[in-house]
Amino acid sequence: MTEARPHRVLVLNSGSSSVKYQLLDMRDGSRPAGGLVERIGEGSSRLVHTPPGGGEVRERTEPIADHAAALKAVAAELAADGLGLDSPELAAIGHRVVHGGKHFTEPTLIDEAVLAEIERLIPVAPLHNPANLTGIRTARELRPDLPQVAVFDTAFHTTMPEAAARYAIDVATADAHRIRRYGFHGTSHAYVSRRTAELLGKEPSEVNVIVLHLGNGASASAVRGGRCEDTSMGLTPLEGLVMGTRSGDVDPAVVFHLKRVAGMDTDEIDTLLNKRSGLVGLCGDNDMREIRRRIEEGDEAARLAFDIYIHRLRKYIGAYYAVLGRVDAVVFTAGVGENAAPVREAAIAGLEELGLVVDGELNAVRGDEPRLISPVYARVAVAVVPTDEELEIATQTYALVRG
Ligand code: ADP
Repeated sequence: MTEARPHRVLVLNSGSSSVKYQLLDMRDGSRPAGGLVERIGEGSSRLVHTPPGGGEVRERTEPIADHAAALKAVAAELAADGLGLDSPELAAIGHRVVHGGKHFTEPTLIDEAVLAEIERLIPVAPLHNPANLTGIRTARELRPDLPQVAVFDTAFHTTMPEAAARYAIDVATADAHRIRRYGFHGTSHAYVSRRTAELLGKEPSEVNVIVLHLGNGASASAVRGGRCEDTSMGLTPLEGLVMGTRSGDVDPAVVFHLKRVAGMDTDEIDTLLNKRSGLVGLCGDNDMREIRRRIEEGDEAARLAFDIYIHRLRKYIGAYYAVLGRVDAVVFTAGVGENAAPVREAAIAGLEELGLVVDGELNAVRGDEPRLISPVYARVAVAVVPTDEELEIATQTYALVRG
C-alpha cells in the first residue's frame, strides 16, 4: 500500500486562556476533528473534542496548568482518534497570530527569526501575541520537524495606503513607537471578499467590496480588486465599530478626561473601553439575540444600544463607499452579520440612492451558504457570506508548505 502524501493541516488559535483547534483535510476541505480547551490555568479547565465521523463529542473538566499541558491534551485526543501529531498525513500546523506589524505581509514559515519578530511586536499586541507565541513554541516542541506557519490577522491590511494607515499625529513619535493603523480580522476579510467575488461570478481583481465582519469583535473593510484599502480597526482592535464589549471610536480625549476627572488609571481605562463598553456597556448584554429579544419587549436601553450600533455601522458603509468610489457589493459576515437579519436591514435601510437595497424575503432566509439578499434589479449587491477563518488559515498554510 502506498502511503498517502501529507494532506492534513492542524489549525491552532491560542488565546490568553484558551486554545481552539481544527484539523482539516485539504483534499476536500473536510474537518476530521476539532475542539477547544478553555480556562487554561484555572482549576476547572475544560476540553471539548469533536471526533471524526460525527462521533460523540468528548468533554472533560480538569486542571490544565498552561498552554503546554493544553496542547499535550489536544494531541492525546487527536491520537485517540488515530489523528495524532506524529501522523505522516499531517502536512503542517497553521497558527493564527494576531499581530504581524508592518513586517509580515504574507503567511510565513516559522523559524527562530520569525519568533523573535513576533516577540518584538508584543508592545503593540500585549494581550494576543504572547499567547500566540506560547502556542507556537509548544507545538514546535511536540513536533520539531513539522513545518509550522504563522498566518497573521494584520497581513491582509498591509496593502493599505499610507493615507489610510497613518494617524495624523507627530510622525517621529508615531514611528518611534510603531503607532499606525494595522487592522485585524484580516484572514476573514480576505476570505469573505474572495468568496463574494465568486458569488458574483467575477475575479477578486474585478470587484470592489465593503466587508462588514460583525462578530463579538467587529470590523469593516474597503477592498478594491482584492486588496485592502482601509479597515476600521487600528493600532489595536479597539478602534472602529461598536462591538460586543469594545467602544470602537471615541474621542481620544475621553481617556485624558477619565484620568484627570474620574481619577482612573491606564489599566482601568483599558478595561473600561475594551471589556465594559460597546453593547454590554450600553445595555448590559453583548449578544445580539438577547438585545433583539429585549427590544421586542420594549426595552429602551436595548433599543438605544442597537441604534448606536447601527448608526456607527452606517457611517462606515458611507465612508468606505467614498473610499472606493464604485462599490460592487456590501457583504455581511460573522455571528451577527450572518444571523441577525434586523441588523442587515437597518444598516442598509434608506440607501437606495447609493444603489443599496435589501429584499425582505431574501434577508429572512437562513443558511450556511454565501447568498445575495438584494433584489435582482439592485445596482450594488448586498450579500451574506459566512466566514471561515480556519479554512483560510489551513489553505494559506498548505499552499506555503506545498510550494
Ligand atoms: P467572535 O468574535 O467571538 O468570533 P462570532 O463571530 O462567533 O464572534 O459572533 C458572536 C456573536 O454573534 C454573538 O455575541 C451574538 O451577538 C451574535 N449571534 C450569534 N448567533 C446569532 C443569531 N442567531 N442572531 C443574532 N445574533 C447572533
